[in-house]
Amino acid sequence: MLTLEDIFKSFKLPLTEKRKKLITEAYTFAQKAHGSQKRKSGEDYIQHSIATAIILGKIGMGSKTVSAGLLHDVPEDTEATLLELEKKFGKEISIIVDGVTKLGKIKLRSSREEYFLENLRKMFLAMAADIRVVIIKLADRLHNMRTLQYLPKEKQERIARETMEIYVPIANRLGIGEIKEQLEDLSFKYINPKNYEYVSKLREENYQKGEKYLKKAIKELKNELKKSGVSVIDIYGRAKHLRSLFLKLRRYDMDITRIYDLIAIRIIVPEIADCYEALGIVHRKYHPMVGRIKDYISLPKSNGYQSIHTTIFGPEGKILEVQIRTKKMHDEAEFGIAAHWIYSEKEKSDWKSYIFKYRKAKVPQEELEWVRQLRDWQKEIGRDDEEFIEGLKIDFFKNHIFAFTPMGDIIDLPEEATPIDFAYAIHSEVGNNVVGAKADGKIVTLDYQIKNGQVIDILTSKESKTPSRDWLKFVKTSKARSRIKRELKKDKGY
Ligand code: MN
Repeated sequence: MLTLEDIFKSFKLPLTEKRKKLITEAYTFAQKAHGSQKRKSGEDYIQHSIATAIILGKIGMGSKTVSAGLLHDVPEDTEATLLELEKKFGKEISIIVDGVTKLGKIKLRSSREEYFLENLRKMFLAMAADIRVVIIKLADRLHNMRTLQYLPKEKQERIARETMEIYVPIANRLGIGEIKEQLEDLSFKYINPKNYEYVSKLREENYQKGEKYLKKAIKELKNELKKSGVSVIDIYGRAKHLRSLFLKLRRYDMDITRIYDLIAIRIIVPEIADCYEALGIVHRKYHPMVGRIKDYISLPKSNGYQSIHTTIFGPEGKILEVQIRTKKMHDEAEFGIAAHWIYSEKEKSDWKSYIFKYRKAKVPQEELEWVRQLRDWQKEIGRDDEEFIEGLKIDFFKNHIFAFTPMGDIIDLPEEATPIDFAYAIHSEVGNNVVGAKADGKIVTLDYQIKNGQVIDILTSKESKTPSRDWLKFVKTSKARSRIKRELKKDKGY
């Protein structure tokens, strides 16, 4: 059984009295609100809240996010209201909790079309408004995946697919390897149980076989590094996670002897210079394999990943991969955007300054992929940079809804927008020729207020060449309004 103490233990930032107090209050509030509620597993509901908070603490989130994690199911599942929450914990935490609740209500449609899925992921991130909302949602999902066995079979597969298609790519994009790999392996287990079993057995056997010489190699390398005066923060062996092992095996005719990074030794050092020095020492001790040295420090991967990888002939001539990185690179690989909270001196300096820091630095390699992505979306949505980033912090998307065309294109609209607004957002000609509309397959009136995530099908006719003056009474976008007026004028022959 998890306790408040376990949350404190997981917390990566300095645990000041103030932070301790906030987390304790959130815990007490959540426990009281959930009362005797149970999870499907039979456990007290609060166990889920604590587990979520622990995941957040482990990846280095601050006390506000951890508290919001504790409270994340309160407004939706208990008698306590968002207003009470706000009175007790202030606006910032209540906005985050509200964001998590709202995000939970979006229907995520599964699809075979990658394009459609990409739009869903965009909407998911856009709707979250505050990046901390997304991170809480990921932690929430991770604990739900860990307890998926208590749900009925048909639900298990659907949820696992949704996790693989939406949550895994988002965790990946935010660079939170720690959560991404766990979500991925758990989804894999439910989507493809046979292959999962096969690969985990294979890994287990090979890992056991290799364990002895792995230990030997670690010991020898430790000594060499020490002799040469390189300070090592950590050195340990890691097994490749199951789904990525499976994907790789498929590319290599399922031949595990050709997978060189099944087991890798990780060397964590303080500075970049130490990485290169350590590399030299590793190569002096063990022969490197030709063409297998990858310097992701000079040339980071597109998600910002940095490390040096090399494959060596270890003890007994057995092949091993060695990964060398600084502590900071390591934390960024495991915790992604969340690592920022660890590396900002004060918890208060929000993630916005993270972007600014990277921007000021003008080091393109340090510009993480997701920052670029966020900017791309902002361009699509057509806001200027400052406004977008400022807005993202609190609730830029508060008054927005997202609807889909039957082809999966995402249309960004103001709240209460109608099918007419939707039609003009696609094209003026579509707007001018509207005769009817369907929302999620059902016929709706033209003044219908579109809801988030709906698929809108616009019915047009070539014969109806003029918009109706009545439309002006209910359209919400200035684009629709001006186009309608223009058409009406034309029609009068002005
Ligand atoms: Mn939950």
